[in-house]
Amino acid sequence: MRIMVTPCDGIGPEITAATMEVMESVNQAFGLGLEYDYEDTGFTSLEKYGTTLRDETLERARGYDGIILGTQSHMDYPARDKGGVNVSAGFRVKLDLYANVRPARVRPFLDSTAKQMDLVIMREATEGFYSDRNMFAGTGEFMPTPDVALSVRKITAHACERIARAGFELAMKRDKHVTAVHKANCFHLTDGLFMTQVRKVAAEFPEVRLDDFIIDAMTAHLVRSPSRFDVIVTTNFYADILSDLASELSGSLGLAGSINANAELGLVCAQAQHGSAPDIQNQNIANPTSLILSAAMMLSWIGERRDLANFEAAGAEIERAVDEVLANPQTRTRDLGGTTNTDAFGSAVAKAIRATT
Ligand code: ATP
Ligand code: MG
Repeated sequence: MRIMVTPCDGIGPEITAATMEVMESVNQAFGLGLEYDYEDTGFTSLEKYGTTLRDETLERARGYDGIILGTQSHMDYPARDKGGVNVSAGFRVKLDLYANVRPARVRPFLDSTAKQMDLVIMREATEGFYSDRNMFAGTGEFMPTPDVALSVRKITAHACERIARAGFELAMKRDKHVTAVHKANCFHLTDGLFMTQVRKVAAEFPEVRLDDFIIDAMTAHLVRSPSRFDVIVTTNFYADILSDLASELSGSLGLAGSINANAELGLVCAQAQHGSAPDIQNQNIANPTSLILSAAMMLSWIGERRDLANFEAAGAEIERAVDEVLANPQTRTRDLGGTTNTDAFGSAVAKAIRATT
């Protein structure tokens, strides 16, 4: 099995290095036969090749069994015509990794705002309110006059239907409860189309309970009673914001792992939910749990899809070892009130894996 690893910018290289130490420990313990190829993206790619993301990188990525993607800085970023391509969007859109799976759960041994919560946000990742994801590539936002700016949001029946189906399929393996989040009371056409497709898919899953909230009310409900939600399905922009809220309710953005996946194509990319955290980059203090858990999700996804018990076991073992390390206040990173560094946290998780396998 071959994994493409691209650390990118910001805290990306630091959390990727910690994640790779953990990956290597499960690779050996579970005989996964993983091989890694490192690929430049972000500023290192810009310096070498004049663009933050080369087309050939994406072409090659299609041939891998999995991808580990760091974080991309948006500070001092060059314009698109100077080589500044959105790396994350490039992977998600060009490789059609439409399902961004974003779990958030409370660990009883960690201090967190939410007391009970175990949910998964299914984020549609290929369209919506992002100019670089728009059908008019790069022109989703424009200024008809110097003092008027417009933004175009693209919502398609196809994209809504497939993210809804991914959500309902996930719900069948969990609590059989889907919450759709929208603002169809204002955005009648775009969010209206989203809800039409969600209800259409819901009819195929009579065992799954469907409810829905408008995005503004949803933020209040999520803070007030986070335990009432299980699978949340929503469009790209709402999910972006809602998942930061959910992660922070669970203790820290640094705990938030995710995968971008396309089950039909068999492509999966591990990526932290947060951004490049420029305020803490190059200090060895970021919490790498996010990317470590993303890698665990990737291994479990590969295992489930290809019926490989050792991959599923490796994913579960990383989850267990991360919880073991987080449970000890001595081995927490700064965002969780500890003093452990990024690299030392990765080593502690790898050690916990070696100790039990
Ligand atoms: P970007 O534009 O790349 O998204 P941002 O300024 O929005 O950058 P985020 O990465 O989204 O920054 O992070 C928001 C806050 O959460 C920052 O204060 C950051 O330091 C913190 N944070 C994010 N990821 C981590 C992490 N892995 N460990 C610790 N703190 C983190
Ligand atoms: Mg951010």
